[in-house]
Amino acid sequence: MFESLSEKLESAFKSLKGEGRINELNVANTIKDIRRALVDADVNYKIAKEFTDRVKDKATGEKVINAISPGQLMVKIVKDELTELMGGEAEPFNTSGTPAVILIAGLQGSGKTTFSGKLANYLKTQKNKKPLLVAADIYRPAAIDQLKVLGEQVKVDVYSDPENKNAVDIAQKAIAFAKENGKNVVIIDTAGRLAVDEAMMTEVANIKQAVNPNEILFVVDSMTGQDAVNTAAAFNERLDFSGVVLTKLDGDTRGGAALSIKYTVNKPIKFISNGEKMDALDIFYPERLAQRILG
Ligand code: GDP
Repeated sequence: MFESLSEKLESAFKSLKGEGRINELNVANTIKDIRRALVDADVNYKIAKEFTDRVKDKATGEKVINAISPGQLMVKIVKDELTELMGGEAEPFNTSGTPAVILIAGLQGSGKTTFSGKLANYLKTQKNKKPLLVAADIYRPAAIDQLKVLGEQVKVDVYSDPENKNAVDIAQKAIAFAKENGKNVVIIDTAGRLAVDEAMMTEVANIKQAVNPNEILFVVDSMTGQDAVNTAAAFNERLDFSGVVLTKLDGDTRGGAALSIKYTVNKPIKFISNGEKMDALDIFYPERLAQRILG
């Protein structure tokens, strides 16, 4: 994960860590290299520039040039700033209510259905909840089957109504079913499209209005870099979602999405998905990821 970014940052710090004399010029060069590393990782230039301006301010304030180990001090400044950029503290996930309702939205192929299965598994095994998975994709019968397969794997019931072509109605009936059957978290996997379109947005917005979810999670493929950020902005405008799920962090992803989504939409990343297996799910801790990036 983020190997290229890690390597480039490592090499940016090299001149401060080496034997050579530290002066304003090599601090400035290091900062320039950090900015380039971020842009190469698909972080938008404006975000990268603001980031390195903050690092520069801190480096000057904390007198990196006179520090006993300037390289280490610089790494710490960058780590703190990366943590802040990704949201600072881990954000809570709201599952209060009987049932709690979690709405899952995102483009087709982003990993929505896989994440829904993982979330059900996590809530059941780690939080002692009784989840119900809901297949609310009225366009792709295969999506219903996929959710059923995952439900069987994690041993969580799946509510579906293949004849029903009204996603709002399916969601409402699923919640009624949950109440009758002692389920206390309802996870609604909505339909996805290949690109943001009005019909999809209206449908998810209608479900939101009808079921008043505790959480609306926007699922996005981290491999798609700045596209991920743009899609997040489009979904957020319509849905005002409560959190982001970044998927496929086990792949060869450069890091741009993880680093810039919070800045762009001002919504926290809540979960990261790093594999196809049902337990490949983590709560997102900005500091841990910053630490991993800096090795
Ligand atoms: P949906 O169309 O948004 O519901 O996406 P799916 O859940 O069907 O996922 C699309 C593809 O990505 C599937 O082949 C999944 O197995 C795969 N996938 C989902 N999440 C991850 C992940 O975190 N890592 C990897 N490597 N693959 C994933």
